[in-house]
Amino acid sequence: MLGIDPRSIVLLAGAMGLLMSLVLFVLRRNYPPTIQGLGEWAAGPFLCFISTLLFGARGLIPDFVSAVIGNLFLLSGSALFYIGSQRFHRQPTSLRLWGGLIVASAPVFAWFVLVQPNYVARLVVFTSLMVCLFFSHARLLFKHGADHIFTQLTGGVLLLQTGFLLLRLVTIPIDPHTQGIFDESPFQVIYVVAYAMCVLLLSIGVVLMASERMRSEFEYLATHDPLTACLTRRALIAACEQELERSRRHGHPLALMMLDLDHFKNINDTHGHLVGDRVLVDFADRVGQQLRLPDRLGRFGGEEFVVLLPETRLDNALHVAERIRHSLGQSTGLPVCTASIGITTPHSDTDTVDHLLARADQALYRAKHLGRDRVESS
Ligand code: GH3
Ligand code: MG
Ligand code: MG
Repeated sequence: MLGIDPRSIVLLAGAMGLLMSLVLFVLRRNYPPTIQGLGEWAAGPFLCFISTLLFGARGLIPDFVSAVIGNLFLLSGSALFYIGSQRFHRQPTSLRLWGGLIVASAPVFAWFVLVQPNYVARLVVFTSLMVCLFFSHARLLFKHGADHIFTQLTGGVLLLQTGFLLLRLVTIPIDPHTQGIFDESPFQVIYVVAYAMCVLLLSIGVVLMASERMRSEFEYLATHDPLTACLTRRALIAACEQELERSRRHGHPLALMMLDLDHFKNINDTHGHLVGDRVLVDFADRVGQQLRLPDRLGRFGGEEFVVLLPETRLDNALHVAERIRHSLGQSTGLPVCTASIGITTPHSDTDTVDHLLARADQALYRAKHLGRDRVESS
């Protein structure tokens, strides 16, 4: 009716699903195992592809195979997309629930094909299950992907498809004589086109979600120290440059703190390197607990750390440093280790990050020289 042949659309959608499935299988092989759900996402469009072959062969193969098995494949493919998203977001999967519902729907489809052939009844059962599936999937993505544009877009595709499915459900009474999937009534054509676009957009959406996750994992690895999870030296210097520029522009204060564990070599020598590592992790945790959200903690070298304190005057920074020093005395079962701290603030508009770091280092050196376990400023 709209000049579009639904059978061609279904087969084209299947071919696109197959290609996207291949892309997702390749991603699954190449992406780190920390990105979960790619296997299910790859299998999803593949099952949808098989369902389109079965639908496309309607009239050429027994209706039972085309309609019943075809519907089961399409439901399973869509459920796998959902389960993939649950695994991607490290949520409990609803494999049993959807597996059970799909198995339970099989005799219903079979009844309406073999015993009492009725396309409309099958459409109602199938579409109702799909509405629940797509809506739950969309809700999951909106809940867990609030800050991720691709997750939201994929959630939007699912919501739109839920809308098309509901439209098909409510238009059944207007269009009660629909004969089958390839009926050329406008509602049926819209339903089939929406399905074809949905499989494609959903597959593209999950590919983009996985790439975005990959990018952010690499960014995290490049900017965080693997032992203590503090910022790396380079990331901290970049943050310092940004904040120094901001403080200069707005005339706001800023402080920089350099911390070095005292006689740390003795801890390694006495308790071993592994205990030394745990002391470093514990130290970073304790320092982190004394900081506010905009403050940044970086590991500068072995047992040397730097804290950037935006919007902080020297007297406040001295308080923070004293708090840090006191927090180190509390026992955790690890060897107690004190720290020496040097603090500085910008002295003029021409001060650079290098100047600040050099002055904080001088203050730290003085703290060491004056007996360690103390705070000095410069
Ligand atoms: P000071 O009070 O003068 O700072 O003495 P110190 O012993 O802390 O300083 P020194 O520079 O002599 O030794 C630092 C030690 O930190 C030597 C090095 O083996 C150890 N270190 C550096 N990185 C790591 C690490 O990642 N893990 C462990 N366990 N030790 C480390
Ligand atoms: Mg030291
Ligand atoms: Mg040192």
